[in-house]
Amino acid sequence: HIKERGRGDFRFYQTQMNVDLLARMKIDHAMREALVDQRFRLVYQPQVDLRTGRLIGAEALIRWSDEVLGEMLPAQFIPIAEETGFIVSLGAWVLREAIRQGEIWQAEGIDIMMSVNVSAVQFHQANFVDSLAKSLSSSGLPPNRLELELTESILIQNVEETQLRLDALVDLGVRLAIDDFGTGYSSLAYLKRFPIHKLKIDRSFVQDIPDDESDAAIATAVINLARSLNLRAIAEGVENETQRRFLLDAGCDEYQGYLCSPPVEPADFVVLVSKLGLSEIFEPRQQVATH
Ligand code: C2E
Ligand code: MG
Ligand code: MG
Ligand code: MG
Repeated sequence: HIKERGRGDFRFYQTQMNVDLLARMKIDHAMREALVDQRFRLVYQPQVDLRTGRLIGAEALIRWSDEVLGEMLPAQFIPIAEETGFIVSLGAWVLREAIRQGEIWQAEGIDIMMSVNVSAVQFHQANFVDSLAKSLSSSGLPPNRLELELTESILIQNVEETQLRLDALVDLGVRLAIDDFGTGYSSLAYLKRFPIHKLKIDRSFVQDIPDDESDAAIATAVINLARSLNLRAIAEGVENETQRRFLLDAGCDEYQGYLCSPPVEPADFVVLVSKLGLSEIFEPRQQVATH
């Protein structure tokens, strides 16, 4: 009996795998066409000062409306793009587009940080730093107004090479943030070793604040860690005033989340700018520990 069920399960999984593979191949193909046809776009979510509510930055988030597949969210296609390597082209487009938008806003007097997600495959490409340097030098966006959001998984691969690359990025003048902090292979050693400017506290630690005592304790600990290492702390996914109040009292610097605004189209972002006003931009605090 067990044997038979085992075989059946195997067949089921195999069929399922083929279906998944086919679906993934379809999405991969559609993404390549969408890039050529310019059907990707970026939306921008405000990052604001927790105290004043004024605008500090914008996180660029990718969107794709496909004729056949409909409106696709990053969770539905970014993992596939990472698997197939298409993320290298897509990520390069994201960086160029975010830099272009940042440049437009700078020219309009909207002086904010432009924050861009970088995936591991993209980061570890040999020419990543060079091509970013080129994009920046041919643009009017000051390098210190570009922030790269890196995940912990990036930092644990090829530590030596990663170190060189992060140093080169900081030499260019760009800022570095760790995204989804605390959800990856958290190794506190890399905070000491790498030239990081900001920790982004993952939404999973924020959503049940203050009822969930462990989450509240973790969020507070990350904020304290950031402060003692002279890094800035930003909370992700802040949806209500209770969460904002808690984070403010805990000493967090910034937040982003639906409480302020979901990610919006560029024209709507400009409306938010005039509504919220601009904050001063904080230069990175002196690093306590370097390599
Ligand atoms: P992330 O970088 O952690 O981005 C934050 C996500 O939380 C975004 O989802 C955002 O829309 C969502 N969010 C913001 N505020 C709230 C809130 O108050 N409540 C809730 N429930 N959600 C909130 P999104 O846009 O679907 O992106 C998901 C993930 O996909 C991102 O997580 C990021 O890892 C990845 N991603 C998005 N755009 C890009 C991109 O251009 N390149 C790369 N490599 N990854 C991207
Ligand atoms: Mg992010
Ligand atoms: Mg995040
Ligand atoms: Mg997150």
